[in-house]
Amino acid sequence: MSKIRGKQNKSTEVRLKMGFVRAGMAGFQLHPVTLPGRPDFYFRKGRLAIFVDGCFWHGCQKCGHIPKTNTSFWALKIERNVERDAKNMALLKRQRVKAVRFWEHQLQENLEACIRRVQRLLSPA
Ligand SMILES: [Zn+2]
Repeated sequence: MSKIRGKQNKSTEVRLKMGFVRAGMAGFQLHPVTLPGRPDFYFRKGRLAIFVDGCFWHGCQKCGHIPKTNTSFWALKIERNVERDAKNMALLKRQRVKAVRFWEHQLQENLEACIRRVQRLLSPA
């Protein structure tokens, strides 16, 4: 199960990457190890980190559901992920890195809107 879900998240990430390239938004790094949480994308120029959160693993309220078997195991695992996400967001903020998180379902439903949001965040105010 985890294999399938992981793969789905991977393909979502690739779609976002293609979207950035199509929109002429070059200059991003993938999974920089130097940043808390290893964001999926990092635009160095705008100090903007982007995370793509798998709905299942990160506890999306809209589509995340906890499997009926081993419920407490999954619930705990997801809860830990959510906690870690929050901690990383705080660490990034301290480093003056802006961060935005997209749910997997947001990218699937409206990729263009997500890209526009990133563009707005990258353009100087
Ligand atoms: Zn979702």
